[in-house]
Amino acid sequence: ARTAAQERRPGPGVTVLAGPTAVGKGTVSAYVREHYPQAWLSVSATTRPARPGEEDGVHYYFTTPEEFDSLVAADEMLEWAVVHGVHRYGTRRDRVMEAVAQGRHVLLEIDLQGARQVRESLPEATFVFLAPPSWEELVSRLVGRGTEGPEEQRRRLDTARLELAAEPEFDAVVVNDRVERAAEELVRLMGLDPEHSSPE
Ligand code: 5GP
Repeated sequence: ARTAAQERRPGPGVTVLAGPTAVGKGTVSAYVREHYPQAWLSVSATTRPARPGEEDGVHYYFTTPEEFDSLVAADEMLEWAVVHGVHRYGTRRDRVMEAVAQGRHVLLEIDLQGARQVRESLPEATFVFLAPPSWEELVSRLVGRGTEGPEEQRRRLDTARLELAAEPEFDAVVVNDRVERAAEELVRLMGLDPEHSSPE
């Protein structure tokens, strides 16, 4: 079934992928990037320090709080938010608009606060909520990946509980039961032709 957003505006454009912590947004969007060169994944700016293995300009643009302030002051951010109560994350408007103008299928992987801001400024975008198969599954994924300590895990799970209630705000809900299946469903919602994926 096509979403209302797609009826209004088929083809290239902006798709927002949101969902609670540890649901697998990063893994699903990495699959899309790998298999669908026509998709353009937005790289966010963040004030969070890089984790081991993360590269500037690939996973994020790692910026100082001062640099982030000036991007916000210059109205360069399509959306931005403080996520998990600590660091700021945001999407540069010019990069997204440029990619849209080039006819790309743009994917924004952002948090719920950011998705709500994009809803205000780009209501024609497609809004997709990535949901866990169950609450228990979400908890075990967060604990299992071991990137956060117990206190941070608790904070993220508190946020996740609130975020799960926002599902009805979205045009479509994709359950991340299996990465490949969820990614293919997302790709169809983005208006990409699954047959044009690059070979494995
Ligand atoms: P992490 O620190 O684990 O890389 O990301 C934490 C959270 O920040 C994730 O939920 C992710 O979706 C969100 N996030 C990443 N980039 C952006 C962005 O540009 N804007 C907003 N609003 N959230 C973002």
